[in-house]
Amino acid sequence: MASYDVIVIGAGPGGYVAAIRCAQLGLKTACVEGRDTLGGTCLNVGCIPSKALLHASHMLHEAEHNFAKMGLKGKSPSVDWPGMLAYKDDVIGQNTKGVEFLFKKNKIDWLKGWGSIPEAGKVKVGDEVHEAKNIIIASGSEAASLPGVEVDEKIVVTSTGALELPKVPKKLVVIGAGVIGLELGSVYARLGSEVTVIEYLDAVTPGMDAEVQKTVQRMLKKQGMSFIMGAAVQKTEATKTKAKVHYKLRKDDSEHVLDADVVLVATGRKPYTDGLGLEALGVEMSQRGQIKTDDHWQTNVKGIYAIGDAIDGPMLAHKAEDEGMAAAEVIAGKAGHVNYGVIPGVIYTHPEVATVGKTEDQLKEEGRAYKVGKFSFMGNGRAKAVFAGDGFVKLLADKDTDRILGCHIIGPGAGDLIHEVCVAMEFGASAEDLAMTCHAHPTYSEAVREAALACGDGAIHS
Ligand SMILES: Cc1cc2nc3c(=O)[nH]c(=O)nc-3n(C[C@H](O)[C@H](O)[C@H](O)COP(=O)(O)OP(=O)(O)OC[C@H]3O[C@@H](n4cnc5c(N)ncnc54)[C@H](O)[C@@H]3O)c2cc1C
Repeated sequence: MASYDVIVIGAGPGGYVAAIRCAQLGLKTACVEGRDTLGGTCLNVGCIPSKALLHASHMLHEAEHNFAKMGLKGKSPSVDWPGMLAYKDDVIGQNTKGVEFLFKKNKIDWLKGWGSIPEAGKVKVGDEVHEAKNIIIASGSEAASLPGVEVDEKIVVTSTGALELPKVPKKLVVIGAGVIGLELGSVYARLGSEVTVIEYLDAVTPGMDAEVQKTVQRMLKKQGMSFIMGAAVQKTEATKTKAKVHYKLRKDDSEHVLDADVVLVATGRKPYTDGLGLEALGVEMSQRGQIKTDDHWQTNVKGIYAIGDAIDGPMLAHKAEDEGMAAAEVIAGKAGHVNYGVIPGVIYTHPEVATVGKTEDQLKEEGRAYKVGKFSFMGNGRAKAVFAGDGFVKLLADKDTDRILGCHIIGPGAGDLIHEVCVAMEFGASAEDLAMTCHAHPTYSEAVREAALACGDGAIHS
């Protein structure tokens, strides 16, 4: 039996970051992980592999649609699917091995196997029981299921199956127009699949700025994806090679059937806490299966903390990482801080979508007086040079104080551009602060400055 200051359960972005921060703060740390590799959902079957496939398929799209426009002539590359999967697996390997290296560097013990908590202060892995003054649960999440839809990870798949299909399907039906459904749907659409997205609600990407929702749907339609909105999937029927998706339109209750070679179920994720023994320990859970914590990520059982997808809040890797660092700092006797008002969200379609802070709908609901500074990428020279003028930056600021309240971007590099607004919001900056900051030309970030200028005396290039 070994004894630790902290044992972290789960080595996803929440858990591995928490373990590294604990070790950096001088705490003797171990991390339990049941998978064969470190990095959790994010590195193995989430953020990283999906971005590799998005990148490869985007390159193909550029070759097919934009190369000739730039005077680059010749045959477009064809898809070597096993080759693309090998590239994706190589990217995963580089990243998971990177975390292994960081564990060694920081002298963190990787306890291999599935962990449980037989009592506060103890973690069991296999037959071994280890002592821990503090335990951080970072057990993550799994794909949510849908009644009537049986996942076999071959014909009816979750995102995990969709990242390793044996071939590019001719017809792909995606259930759910959230971030994961749109990202993976756009990968296969670019690779030649006929992609239909079925969504229960009337808008894609629930919770995002309404104008962004409309624009992203329009742009994805232009790229060949079809959408059936306001439709409730009733069931799927799968054979060995095909599936049928039965759905009902909410507006008139009419029933319809779609044929598919593969069905991707992308209706969200739910916390994964199986086998930890939380019920016996008396750890309080929410109705949605999330572990409840206080403001310092501690559960109702002293010395047991929880972070990431397993607790409340947006299921995002960077939110899990921030909580991992903060929980480690709290355990080490420091303050530990996460600003939940400034957590960016990004969709890595092309163009990218990025958002932070409040939407207009939220501000209206709160009855808050605000102003809008909007700038189209059509007025940005750099965006025009790369055929990416479709899209905009929308900055929302308090009408009286000019303090930045939110930002919503659809356009080139949106996922990177959003961070200057995040920093500005962290510092409580005004739109004028952003507008007065010199931005290099020609960059996409000039569009952010122009949106800030539009909150004041006006943008220059619109
Ligand atoms: C297809 C897809 C794409 C995504 N893309 C993005 C993106 O672009 N950006 C973004 O921010 N987020 C993205 N996400 C979400 C992101 O992956 C999660 O928010 C993030 O991984 C959560 O981190 P975590 O540490 O809480 O849990 P996880 O990453 O889920 O890690 C939990 C780990 O704990 C292990 N574990 C669980 N129980 C035990 C146990 N009892 N004993 C030992 N080990 C255990 C699991 O094996 C797992 O490895 C994506 C998700 C998916 C599915």
